[in-house]
Amino acid sequence: MDAKNQTVNKHQRKKLEGILESLSKDDRDRLYTEARKQRSDAQKRRSTKARETIDGERIGRGKRRPDPLVDWVLRLVERDFAHKNTDTRDERPLTEGLVVGLTRRRATVLPVGCDGSDTSKQVLCRLSAELAGRQQDGIAVGDRAMIAELEIAADAVEHEVVSVLPRESKLARPDSHDTNQERVVAANVDTVVIVVSVVSPPLHPRLIDRYLVAIEWGDCKPMIAVNKADLLPEAELNEALKVLDPYKQAGIPIAVCAAVPGDDSSVRVDGLRKLLAGQTCAFVGHSGVGKSSLANALDSSLGIETGGLRGTDQRGRHTTTASEMHFIEPGIRVIDTPGVRFFGLAEMSPEELRWLFPEFEKYVHSCKFNDCGHDHEPGCAVKAAVKANEISDTRYDTYLRLLEELRNGGKPKDVVERIRPKYDDD
Ligand code: GDP
Ligand code: ZN
Repeated sequence: MDAKNQTVNKHQRKKLEGILESLSKDDRDRLYTEARKQRSDAQKRRSTKARETIDGERIGRGKRRPDPLVDWVLRLVERDFAHKNTDTRDERPLTEGLVVGLTRRRATVLPVGCDGSDTSKQVLCRLSAELAGRQQDGIAVGDRAMIAELEIAADAVEHEVVSVLPRESKLARPDSHDTNQERVVAANVDTVVIVVSVVSPPLHPRLIDRYLVAIEWGDCKPMIAVNKADLLPEAELNEALKVLDPYKQAGIPIAVCAAVPGDDSSVRVDGLRKLLAGQTCAFVGHSGVGKSSLANALDSSLGIETGGLRGTDQRGRHTTTASEMHFIEPGIRVIDTPGVRFFGLAEMSPEELRWLFPEFEKYVHSCKFNDCGHDHEPGCAVKAAVKANEISDTRYDTYLRLLEELRNGGKPKDVVERIRPKYDDD
């Protein structure tokens, strides 16, 4: 083996060790179990043949080369996971961090253990070529990532995101052009706050259902923030809030807020702050309901632009809107990205909607028509499953209602932007 090859192997090994470290416990356990079996099978095979011919080379002072389990595990890592990181020169020490900012080619990463509000600790990183090419689902704000130094000249060091750790939850939706492709707009979100306003625009509970479907898909918890409470007298407010009773009964926390306090400024955002303490969250909802204002009200130092100014210059042209995470006391992390802001079923097609009911998946292949909408079609396995109580009829009703809305072009009028606008560094 020549020296160059040896170096490649050393790099490769470091890389594989990095990947192994980043795997979930379940994945690691699975690999170790398989590796143990493979090694013992190989040992059995070896004992029946001459060692030299099976094992080939001998090392050191004539001892047989040791055959540690971890080597077998690393081979499996290479087989199953190495394609996720194509940089074979990787022998650099890796640091774990949280992705707090993201543009098309760069991520801002906060190393583990650093205080989020201390921006001096944040590291601006390039994305590995592989990650940059998989922006849709490869990396999102909220991801935990492994970063490494990247030497670009003798005296200049940059950093690079090498890999992304498995996610616990995500805010995701199918791509409107390719429904097999998922767009992850935020990762590891504990709570998705659906912001609605009591007036301007008026409260529209059905829109909440759309968000609930998508939130459920990503394993996040929902919360409802009813904003602009200052715009209605108390009696009217209470009347308006009644439409939310079904959600309250379903156990969804509801915070009544006023981001911009009215004359009697008693309600405001204290309830919301309490509910969100210690959580990573994202605000979704139509433009104008007050998502930016709520974040500002939670922390006046954020200075997020409001009133639709954001994302356009004075002439209304589209400008950059970076994705970022804001740190707010007590321990609240707010993920604010264009994707989150325009998140919803606004641009969803009826075909995409099916994808958001995971419990349908088991049945769709048995539908008579492979483009079955699970609605009026004969031989629909989903409908049969509803009849057989295998799929909840409430969920199926929600599906039919949303389907109807989408088929009738029920797009909310105020959402015109695409889910992920172009960034400045495109
Ligand atoms: P976003 O598009 O959801 O981020 O909404 P913005 O935060 O930009 O708010 C839209 C408009 O509603 C702005 O003019 C805000 O000043 C106003 N607004 C936001 N929250 C409140 C509120 O609680 N009360 C009142 N009266 N106005 C609000
Ligand atoms: Zn069907």
